[in-house]
Amino acid sequence: MGFSAVYIHVPFCLQKCNYCDFLSFPGKPQAAVVWQYFDGLKKEFALYRERLNGAIFAPNSNVTIYFGGGTPSLMPVEFIAEIITMVKQAAADCGTNVIEITLEANPGTIAQSYLQGLKASGVSRISLGAQSFDDTDLAVMGRLHTAADIKEAVAFCRACGFDNVSLDLIANLPGQTVEKWLTNLQQAVALEVEHLSCYGLHLSEQSPWGKAYALGKLDLPDEDSEIAMWQAGRAYLQEQGYEQYEISNFARQGKACRHNLKYWRRENYLGLGLGAASCYGNYRWSNGETLTDYQGKLGKGRLPIAFQEMLTDEVVLAEGIFLGLRCTEGVSFDVMKAKYGVEIVTVYEKEMKQLEKAGLLFIDEIGMRLSPRGQLLANNVFTAFLPEKPE
Ligand code: SF4
Repeated sequence: MGFSAVYIHVPFCLQKCNYCDFLSFPGKPQAAVVWQYFDGLKKEFALYRERLNGAIFAPNSNVTIYFGGGTPSLMPVEFIAEIITMVKQAAADCGTNVIEITLEANPGTIAQSYLQGLKASGVSRISLGAQSFDDTDLAVMGRLHTAADIKEAVAFCRACGFDNVSLDLIANLPGQTVEKWLTNLQQAVALEVEHLSCYGLHLSEQSPWGKAYALGKLDLPDEDSEIAMWQAGRAYLQEQGYEQYEISNFARQGKACRHNLKYWRRENYLGLGLGAASCYGNYRWSNGETLTDYQGKLGKGRLPIAFQEMLTDEVVLAEGIFLGLRCTEGVSFDVMKAKYGVEIVTVYEKEMKQLEKAGLLFIDEIGMRLSPRGQLLANNVFTAFLPEKPE
């Protein structure tokens, strides 16, 4: 056993976006706070190494590292470099390598010199939170950047030698139409980025937009428009040579995000930092969400875990299936048998037949995958595999 991926959460953002419910504190963080946080990340990683007697990574597991947030690019590049060196050393001690290092960055706050430092420290992939190419949308979302900043950030990445750049874009924004969504995608494609993540707007109740929506003060596209945007966007990106490899993710050949593929293949991953989640076989846990709790526990030599659970084998199997189904390659019966020791065709015979009949699943002798309609109704498919189904 051992992990094969490390996620590092950086919970700082210069300003909170109006739709966001990610764990991040708004405002420029003080240098001392960032340093303490960085020190905590190193302590946390060292504790895991100690608990696992150094065998933190599975041999030959080809480790990936992902700096997410928040805004990881608010961390000094020397800190990022030191964390990378620490993880690489641990991987080498376990007989494996680090094969991909992604860092999320905000296009409004990324300098070319910073990107140069990231490149020198081994970061191989930059994921830019573009969200939209419409300056009006960006302003109402509370983003700190403009469309011109996105273009400049991609140019900086290229100038620094990054050949793996991803853009995040959000669909179903207030007032967005299929035409506007396609215009966004066209501008992303024109930048020749290798990867695109296209998520539908998700509103948390606590965000300013969530509250406005609850009061009927936010005009969002209706369900038919959402479906039309998703279908038109998918068709357009495929036409442009991007392969859809997951419900919301598209990539040029060979440029799928290897870190996220590990989540969808339900490999063991380690989350470091505030609120970060981890998964190891049947165990799942996540860290506390306050700096005081995080640093306090680490200061006493304890892991900063706030929640943990042990899943039954049935839930682990169901997760393995529905995470796998998120990917367009789908789920292979042989792989499932080797990993979970069961014939899913036997365990889920009834559910699979129903989903196939409803046109949501394609099934053959090798495995199963979501149909395009199944991708739209993915949650219905996933629910069918859970051991305890809602009434
Ligand atoms: S930059 Fe990202 S993490 Fe930070 S507030 Fe905006 S959406 Fe949330």
